[in-house]
Amino acid sequence: MPQYQVPAFLAELLHARSPSGYEAEAQAVFDRHVKPAADAYANDALGNRLATLNPAGDPVLMLAGHMDELGLLITYVNKEGYLYFATIGGHDRTVISGRRVIIQTAKGPVKGVTGKRAVHLMDESDRKKVPEIHEIWIDIGAKSKKDALARVAIGDVATYDHELELINGSIGTARAFDNKVGAYIVGETLIRLAQDRKKLAAKVVSVATSQEEIGTRGATTSTYIVNPHIAIAIDVGHATDHPDCDNRKFGETKLGGGPIICRGPNINPKIYQRLLAAAKAAKVPFQLEADPRPTGTDARAIQMARGGVATGLISIPLRYMHTPSELVDLEDVERCVKLLVAFAKSLDKGDYAHW
Ligand SMILES: [Zn+2]
Repeated sequence: MPQYQVPAFLAELLHARSPSGYEAEAQAVFDRHVKPAADAYANDALGNRLATLNPAGDPVLMLAGHMDELGLLITYVNKEGYLYFATIGGHDRTVISGRRVIIQTAKGPVKGVTGKRAVHLMDESDRKKVPEIHEIWIDIGAKSKKDALARVAIGDVATYDHELELINGSIGTARAFDNKVGAYIVGETLIRLAQDRKKLAAKVVSVATSQEEIGTRGATTSTYIVNPHIAIAIDVGHATDHPDCDNRKFGETKLGGGPIICRGPNINPKIYQRLLAAAKAAKVPFQLEADPRPTGTDARAIQMARGGVATGLISIPLRYMHTPSELVDLEDVERCVKLLVAFAKSLDKGDYAHW
């Protein structure tokens, strides 16, 4: 069987290291692939990327996918040259230790590992404990504090050294599908709409947002700039089709079942219906989820911007979120692009989804 072809744009985004506030590598990839297809292209003080198509169109549709990821922020180097860190984003402390990491420094990447005391050297009670963040360190093989600080600076960031790998057909693992897939989808949707503008009434602004993982901050400023009537956030969502995941608590979603369309107070009801209709028109399988609160995504900030925005949310099913080995079926990513192309074309002039 021939290997599943991962689009170059997506592969490059997954390779780019972009902890919140340190998104430069992902910005560069988005610039390279999306800017040539856009009618206008801008950035802002938060580091967002805003690509516009059909600038005179109506309504204004914003597509938002965050390009930041989790990271470890170096805060202290001890006299032996071991590095201590604070976490950027919601880490699971049970999986930080024993990893290879790459630290982005002014002089280029520095390799290290997250160290901890060996199991042989623990007593019975130590073995049951989850280490606190300050009980884990990064070892870069330095001989002293001076040696370490010659290579790494306070405020540099580390990410896990887990690159994209396909493990079965279109099912891949990577350290930050959350949410490079969303940034890819909004960029790729704009590229495809640029190739075929027939029936496109809307102005489309695809935004690779920054700093979602620490409070939807890039979405807050970019929505103000774009001032959309309608917006769709694209993020990852929990696939609940693995052991130890109670459907009664977490709903029923699976890898490879198509993009997940969300419903609830964060979602404009007309936009929800439109997304279902677009999925059916594009012959794209989809799944449903419901969330009773402002969602933990850019959709939360976007809906409440200015005088309010008619907001939708689509999630790519993902197993093992915020661990170094997230799992996604890349077919679901392609299906989401098709769905959004159909959705953008379904919008009529003057249609603002007020209700
Ligand atoms: Zn996340």
